[in-house]
Amino acid sequence: MASGQMSRDEALECTRCRHACHVLLYSETASQLFGRIPIRYIVLMQMRFDGLLGFPGGFVNPLEETLEEGLTRELLEELGVAVPVSKEDHVESCFSPPRSGTYSSSSRLILHFYVKKMEEEQIQEIEKAAASTAADHGLEVLGMVRVPLYTTKSGGGLSCFLSHSFIGVARFQLMNSLLRLHLVSPGDLQEALRSSQRTHAESAQNLQAAFKLTGEQP
Ligand code: AMP
Ligand code: MN
Repeated sequence: MASGQMSRDEALECTRCRHACHVLLYSETASQLFGRIPIRYIVLMQMRFDGLLGFPGGFVNPLEETLEEGLTRELLEELGVAVPVSKEDHVESCFSPPRSGTYSSSSRLILHFYVKKMEEEQIQEIEKAAASTAADHGLEVLGMVRVPLYTTKSGGGLSCFLSHSFIGVARFQLMNSLLRLHLVSPGDLQEALRSSQRTHAESAQNLQAAFKLTGEQP
């Protein structure tokens, strides 16, 4: 197992750790962007209250509920739908990496990551509920977003999406899942990452120039 990773059972042995569960929900779709670019899959993420992209889910207390019950409870709050998640949907558990990037058991938050495939209609129902009846809408969750998996002629799509800012290891969880589930080929992901680095550099320049708006020199 990669450093910082552990099995679900090993993770639960750490009773003094805090635990958080998050899930990637996705479905197939036949719809096409502009009537010509196949979207192929709907992959859900969310814009969090802190302005970062992440997956739905949150803190779970294994003394009071199973990890999956806790995750389903969090999903009801954030999505307005109690999506049932089971042990079989579990993908990996790891210590939340500290900012220095080194892994150790002193980082007390354990992250549990799940993936669940759904029907397109179920995903659409979740998107509607998340923007209407979900208790956390406009509070902890600013909105659900779909991940563009395609690349447009001008180089937009997945590459631009990956150049946004993500919470913790969410960008890695997304990229690992896209590869593992064969939603994107390794070659296409490499290409998107290369283009993403360029977009990132341009964003840094834009931000630098934006200081002028505030009347300050960059
Ligand atoms: P939440 O309540 O969804 O913010 O998640 C509970 C905790 O997990 C918070 O401390 C978050 O900062 C952290 N967290 C959420 N998603 C991730 C992620 N993908 N990678 C690392 N930490 C995360
Ligand atoms: Mn959350």
